[in-house]
Amino acid sequence: MTFPLHVPLTGSGLDRAAELRTQAKTLDKLLRAPQARLLAMAGGKFPIDLAGAPRVDWSPMSEAILAAATDKPVFLGLDDGAPRFAIELKPVEDPRELGFFSESVKFIDLRSIAPDLQGGEATVLTEAKSLLDWHSSHRICSRCGAPSDMADGGWRRDCPSCGAKHFPRTDPVTIMLLTRRHPEMGDRVVMGRKHGWPEGLFSLLAGYVEPGETIEDAARRESFEEAGVRVGEVRYLASQPWPFPSTLMIGVYAEGLSDELVREEEELEEIDWFTKAEILAALAGEHPRLMAPRKDAIARILVEAWATDQLEL
Ligand SMILES: [Zn+2]
Repeated sequence: MTFPLHVPLTGSGLDRAAELRTQAKTLDKLLRAPQARLLAMAGGKFPIDLAGAPRVDWSPMSEAILAAATDKPVFLGLDDGAPRFAIELKPVEDPRELGFFSESVKFIDLRSIAPDLQGGEATVLTEAKSLLDWHSSHRICSRCGAPSDMADGGWRRDCPSCGAKHFPRTDPVTIMLLTRRHPEMGDRVVMGRKHGWPEGLFSLLAGYVEPGETIEDAARRESFEEAGVRVGEVRYLASQPWPFPSTLMIGVYAEGLSDELVREEEELEEIDWFTKAEILAALAGEHPRLMAPRKDAIARILVEAWATDQLEL
């Protein structure tokens, strides 16, 4: 098997330096270090400098920018020793007018800009977005209802009322490269199209791993629920954090044991088997009805690796 597959939104180059999170004094010193930089999310969007190739616009630290934030800064890690933090700005009409950003900055959502960012920047935004979104939706303790406080550089929330400690959540999703060899057509993969998706856009089947379930169990259950296909062997291939809102996509190979597809009608508009030649045509934009998944999605990485024989399954 040719590994590692290059999966977008992974490998930021940032050292998370998790051992520093519990050291409040050190974190405060890092926050005020001259080389400290801060990423400011506003309304779910990030400041992108469009003067040249798109890149993240990191702001220098100041009391003014900290005062414009909804909460304390979260500690993302160290970039070559330089501290990196993130905040969410309080709602304003146009964050560019706050004076913290370069003139050529535009606020853009991660989903739109991710494929155009270079050098692991989309991965840093993935980490920041997941963490900041979690804080904004977990300000209240889920055990007792009292307001909770950010702790550990943003990697925990503590409830001062009942003592509960809350950790940022990531929801595991299994995404299946469900394949089977057809006697005449050769290897084929199952892809589906959800209701409301653009015409022709198909992706690999996927679903949340449920409580008490293994990744393998979830892949078998989802394959049968969505496609009516029983699955034999299941094997891990690669994973990808996907911060919309906060999932971990776990890519697996799933060995299909039958050919007939039974579509899960409530969720899927269409479902079909596709050959390697069809996937290659879709990747080249030359298939009459099949459009490949977006280029930063793990679904595309997996079908491309499969169709170009990079996986030994
Ligand atoms: Zn509580």
